[in-house]
Amino acid sequence: MPIWFTIDLDVEFDNERFGKPYGSKNPGIEKGIPLFLSLFKRFQIPATFHIQEQSDIHDSISATYSHIVEAIQKDGHEIGLHTHFQKGYDPESREREITSGIRRLEEKYGKIVSFRAGKYFTSEATIKILEKYGIKYDVSPYKNTSIGNMRWYDIADSPYHPSYKDITRIDNASILMIPITNKRLGIILDSSISLELMKKGTNILISESKKIKQPIIIFLSTHSWKCIDPVTNSFRKDIIQRLKEYFAFLQQFNNIEFMNIRTLGERWEQGEFTPYFLNTPDLFGQNFSLFSPRRYFWLSKYFLFWRKYFKYILFKKID
Ligand SMILES: [Zn+2]
Repeated sequence: MPIWFTIDLDVEFDNERFGKPYGSKNPGIEKGIPLFLSLFKRFQIPATFHIQEQSDIHDSISATYSHIVEAIQKDGHEIGLHTHFQKGYDPESREREITSGIRRLEEKYGKIVSFRAGKYFTSEATIKILEKYGIKYDVSPYKNTSIGNMRWYDIADSPYHPSYKDITRIDNASILMIPITNKRLGIILDSSISLELMKKGTNILISESKKIKQPIIIFLSTHSWKCIDPVTNSFRKDIIQRLKEYFAFLQQFNNIEFMNIRTLGERWEQGEFTPYFLNTPDLFGQNFSLFSPRRYFWLSKYFLFWRKYFKYILFKKID
């Protein structure tokens, strides 16, 4: 079957990179977005830009940088919603953040169907809110990572409808979860992974595509500030070069189709495909030396499991 390639950017204030209070300077947006737009134009890649919106108008990208969001839409890219939730946000606060963002974006840019939670931290309560307001695709799952209480380990490699009780499981919720490509395949834009490893991971997916009936999805995710050096505020030439070479590499395959999230979601639903699980090697872990703890990063899954178990023994409760 063919391969569907999709890429999205979280367009957010640069402070999100460091977890600091909002600053007035955002080279990631002012310089980073025009750069990504020119790259996508050059390689004819339709992308999805998830725009950060919070209920506080000072934390709204569309209010602060309307000319940039307009430029994104003018180039034909999809506009989605990106919202960060503070730790311990109850469903009411989540709903307030999500609805204010949807309202602001839809007033200017039309119907929004795609959503990314800050730090991939969506939840069962969140998908119910998203469905209520017409969001069709939650692209927060990131296979083989864990963030906060969220464990994205054993999820499908493909889009799937989740359970309202556990969004990592397949069931019959109406929202479609679209996971970022398995971290262990090493096709990662937000790290210093080598181009060679990215090509290797991609080649594995290309050979997997010959074995299954569903389209294989390569879904990469990055951030507006990624191509900017945080100290000098100048462009990170190495990152930009790696991106260009990776896009050029993808374009030599005639069975790879480039599309944004909305198109991918619609085509997946129309095709009535069933979710798939792949059995692929841990290239990301193998990339580190035998003595590097990052090589054994998959162990954290078991560590987190046992921590919960011990808590139960000690305090007779599970949080
Ligand atoms: Zn973010």
